[in-house]
Amino acid sequence: MSTLADANNLAAGGLPVITDPDPVNDATFVYHVDLFLVALLACVVVSRLPQAIALFSSSDWYNGHFLRHVPYRRSTTIVQGFKNAYPPPLKGQWSEDSHSSASSHTSGSSSKMKRLDRHGAQIVPIYPTHIASCMRFVRPLVAPLRARIVPGYSVAQFLIMTIYFWVLIYASFYKSNLFLAADRTGWVAIAQLPFIFALSQKNNLLGWLMGLGYEKFNFLHRFAGRLIVLAANIHSIHYFYVWSLTGTFQQNILRPSSIWGLITLICVDLIFFFSTSFWRQKAYNIFLVTHIIGFILILPAAYLHKVAMAPYVFTCAGIMGFDLLFRLVKSRIHTATIRPISQLDLTRVEVHGINAGWRAGQHVRLRVLSMGMGWWGWTEIHPFTIASMSGGQEGLVLMCKKTGSWTKKLYEIAKEGGYTEGGVGRDIKVMIEGPYGGPGHTIFASFSGAVFVVGGSGITFALSTVQDLVQKDLKGQSRLKIIELIWVVQDPASLVPLLPTFTTLVQQSVFTPLHISVYYTRAAVGKFPFPPDFYHPGISLAPGRPRIAKVIDSTLCRAVSLGSGIKDKERIMGLVVGVCGPVELADDVVKAVGSVEPTRRDQVGGIEVHEEVFGW
Ligand SMILES: Cc1cc2nc3c(=O)[nH]c(=O)nc-3n(C[C@H](O)[C@H](O)[C@H](O)COP(=O)(O)OP(=O)(O)OC[C@H]3O[C@@H](n4cnc5c(N)ncnc54)[C@H](O)[C@@H]3O)c2cc1C
Repeated sequence: MSTLADANNLAAGGLPVITDPDPVNDATFVYHVDLFLVALLACVVVSRLPQAIALFSSSDWYNGHFLRHVPYRRSTTIVQGFKNAYPPPLKGQWSEDSHSSASSHTSGSSSKMKRLDRHGAQIVPIYPTHIASCMRFVRPLVAPLRARIVPGYSVAQFLIMTIYFWVLIYASFYKSNLFLAADRTGWVAIAQLPFIFALSQKNNLLGWLMGLGYEKFNFLHRFAGRLIVLAANIHSIHYFYVWSLTGTFQQNILRPSSIWGLITLICVDLIFFFSTSFWRQKAYNIFLVTHIIGFILILPAAYLHKVAMAPYVFTCAGIMGFDLLFRLVKSRIHTATIRPISQLDLTRVEVHGINAGWRAGQHVRLRVLSMGMGWWGWTEIHPFTIASMSGGQEGLVLMCKKTGSWTKKLYEIAKEGGYTEGGVGRDIKVMIEGPYGGPGHTIFASFSGAVFVVGGSGITFALSTVQDLVQKDLKGQSRLKIIELIWVVQDPASLVPLLPTFTTLVQQSVFTPLHISVYYTRAAVGKFPFPPDFYHPGISLAPGRPRIAKVIDSTLCRAVSLGSGIKDKERIMGLVVGVCGPVELADDVVKAVGSVEPTRRDQVGGIEVHEEVFGW
């Protein structure tokens, strides 16, 4: 423990002189604490390495980095059946004389089917390698770790924050008295800055190595930020207090290093103030602008405050520069067609100049370069999940729900367009940056069963993912034995514009039963949009909320069943549950997965959850 040699002796800065028989160099000490944190992160990276290696063995690994345009190549797989054709063959997708024995959503029908290449030779399926995210003996811990403490925050996240908190407490207090030594907290604050940067950049090495999108680190970025604010304020208040006590405030604060320190403190506090949920929700742009300006100012200010902090400042600048460079490389300017979809209350953005380079479930950031969005409209960039399949004919499709002023303006300018080939719409210039996020090291096609639960505009995630899985299945690259898609909407009319797409998907999924259930939570406005005897094979429409646990259980049953389907001979490789939509929906899904009996969970080889939440 520090011993106070002489409390009345004050150093030049006005602080008491502390002597310690075994003093610790603050700068070296916090550097070692940082190394410890890096070692912890390295352990996580190593634990996820087997999954990363499995990803490298699949075709998914080279997608998901750079958007591009490739010549469209129609699928040449021919599906051949042995009985009467049902559903009817799709032009171009099926051979003219192909047959199907039953509707694609009827389990067992796939045993009567064969995949043939264009020369008529049978395609031998090659399924992606499956590596579970955790070992069998760890599975009992996963459900409690996934459980929510407060909406949107899991026990695992809470544990990570607790560990981080205690590491910083140790860094702040070890051989240092918070009331007598001011420097330690200053060093702790600056030493955490590189983590703050690394956890927030869209293009970050940490995310690539761990197979996690930048948005998954956001909780830690926010928490670390708060601890930095605390440390920086304790550090400054300490000096202010002592200077005031010794009557040297004015003299000390006017020193250049103090002025730069004060600027750093103001930036830190302003960033904190404007990043509270009030600003993020009510005025996202103010939050964003203060964040960007604040962090750009902090770096030179911290350097000029104390030159010895240079390694941290340069590390942050390096991380930021790396991100900016990649943002530039990942940005594309194209003409997009925007169309209003009134039943879904959203704008469909079609970018035909980009048709490849993403993985299902990833998102891009959209900037509209049109005066229609107002003078400052071009300054805003908004994230949207890609709703189409990479390599498909549609190009890159986004569905932007009307939620606030920017998305409303986009909808309005789409409505102002005239009639085009595909309905009302108009062409505008857009900048697309990405792709980001997505499934990371998780390969959906490597599991035995999949359930997707999406709410409202979260359907974008499910559309691209299910389309991708169906296409992979036709090529013999998906192990999935069953796919269940649950879509929760407010109005049953939401199904109208997507019914043709859903029908096509169900028809194409000949080897894997695909069932789509749409639940509407409000009575239809006006006339009910479908006849009372709504019947579409593989698609159901029902009022109320889905019983997610029940659907997971029945999918699990199908995934473990050993019927006559061609995939029933395969080893059972787990169930994946994907969820996209509001935080509450993700929490419900996690709860439902947690309620699965351990024996059932082990029977299927574990249940993994992939969450995409529209917001942070
Ligand atoms: C990873 C991700 C994927 C998304 N995918 C889709 C999608 O496929 N379809 C869809 O309809 N919506 C999606 N969203 C939500 C969409 O980005 C917001 O609804 C949109 O940005 C709202 O903008 P606004 O100005 O119209 O609304 P506002 O009223 O300004 O904001 C509504 C909410 O969106 C958030 N928001 C506003 N601007 C931004 C921004 N630039 N970046 C991040 N969040 C912002 C605010 O925090 C606020 O809570 C996604 C969000 C994220 C984070």
